[in-house]
Amino acid sequence: MHLIWDEFLKIIKEEAGSQVVETWFKAVCLETWDATTHTVTLRVPNQFVSSWIQNHYLELLRTHLARLLHAPVLKFAFVCTTPSTPLQKARSIIPAAVLSDAEFVAPTASPQAAPLIVAPRTHIAAVDRSNGKERSTIALNENYRFDNFIVGPSNSLAHAAARAICTNLSSVYNPLFIYGGTGLGKTHLLHAIGNQVRAQNPDAVVRYETSDNFINDFINSIRFDRSQQFRNKYQKVDVVLFDDIQFLSNKEQTQEVFFHIFNVLYEQQKQIVLSSDTFPKEIAGLQSRLKSRMEWGLVADIQVPDTETKMAILRKKADYHTLNLPDDVAEFIAARVISNIRELEGALIRVSAFAALTNQKISIEMAKRVLLTLGEPKRESILLDTIIKIVAKHYDVAINDIRSKKRHQNIANVRQIAFYMMKKMSDCSLQAIGNYVGGRDHSTVIHAVTKVEKLLALDRTLCQKLGIIEQEILTS
Ligand code: ADP
Ligand code: MG
Repeated sequence: MHLIWDEFLKIIKEEAGSQVVETWFKAVCLETWDATTHTVTLRVPNQFVSSWIQNHYLELLRTHLARLLHAPVLKFAFVCTTPSTPLQKARSIIPAAVLSDAEFVAPTASPQAAPLIVAPRTHIAAVDRSNGKERSTIALNENYRFDNFIVGPSNSLAHAAARAICTNLSSVYNPLFIYGGTGLGKTHLLHAIGNQVRAQNPDAVVRYETSDNFINDFINSIRFDRSQQFRNKYQKVDVVLFDDIQFLSNKEQTQEVFFHIFNVLYEQQKQIVLSSDTFPKEIAGLQSRLKSRMEWGLVADIQVPDTETKMAILRKKADYHTLNLPDDVAEFIAARVISNIRELEGALIRVSAFAALTNQKISIEMAKRVLLTLGEPKRESILLDTIIKIVAKHYDVAINDIRSKKRHQNIANVRQIAFYMMKKMSDCSLQAIGNYVGGRDHSTVIHAVTKVEKLLALDRTLCQKLGIIEQEILTS
């Protein structure tokens, strides 16, 4: 039976995605197949999973299992591993608003419809259970501290706010919301806050959480009836650091629970710190009441670092690893990596590894050879500077406004034109362009580019104007 079930899981993975398999089907097993009554008995961990599968995936089950079992029709019997578990357990964690009663209909087939056999695949539940436990706490990374975080104009606000909350927990900015593009130091700052709070007060309870882990924990808590433990984790904390909150997007139920936990923490005056790749309002698929709560305290951005900050970061990292990094090599690397400090570190590691392996000192010639793939010096970054400057000049808008979060129609239109020109004229990735223009998401850039392309097909004047701008950029 389990071969058939494994085959079924493969199909579901392709049709509905691995998330659905991990969330709902992994802890289910096909117990028996009665060919005379055409009845398939599925063992599910609890009532909630049973109802959810019946309401959402019954057709998928029917179609594919019928084919795999060579059965013209199928009936289903769902047997709960914890049949006596009160539904209230699941309900207690999910506010009634998200789970309509329809989601709690009793199983359609009676559990007695098929005889029980010992579940052959209980190890799956056990593995998941232990995973759930292992993943439930994430340790703070002690390498991410304030003393090795380089401050420059691009991150000074976020850094100052992060430091300020450590000495005045929950009384200055609550929540503190830090946003910025990938690899710009959000996670570093969150851990630095946690480490600093602990250093000041070893008894403080700090909890670092990623959205991914939060979602998995939540799902496991439902699956294994551990909703109480799930909530308890947030009961005695002093500081909660939620990283990459944008991944809660479109996860309705998780957002409900998050909302509930947020409110409790806030009311109890616990410090909340959140990070995301975009401004709260721009996180698609997030409930507006959550977005507005995220803006209750301070929203601080991290922008792409300037060359000096990048060089300072490289020097700090080199010192830490006791590497002798000549200035011209630092400059060479900083000039080529535009918008991601992780890539900056990667380049340094490659050069230092090469130096160690070949027993040579780091030199500019070696860096050029090793980092051949980084391309021409700063061309892209200079080009983006030129494009934003010339677009701003032609439309008489300040560069800062284009980079800002202002949503005024005129500014938003000019920003979209800047995105379009950058996409057209540079080799930068959409994310790098988004990062450059105020830490925006790549989907915002795609949206803008598509919109301008449509306008260009209809508007000759715009076509001419953009032609002139392009010429000016090319000749500047
Ligand atoms: P994000 O969470 O924004 O994607 P991270 O915090 O993971 O980025 O940062 C990526 C890497 O860059 C980490 O190794 C981090 O230590 C380093 N980093 C980022 N910003 C700084 C900074 N200002 N000073 C020193 N290191 C930094
Ligand atoms: Mg991060």
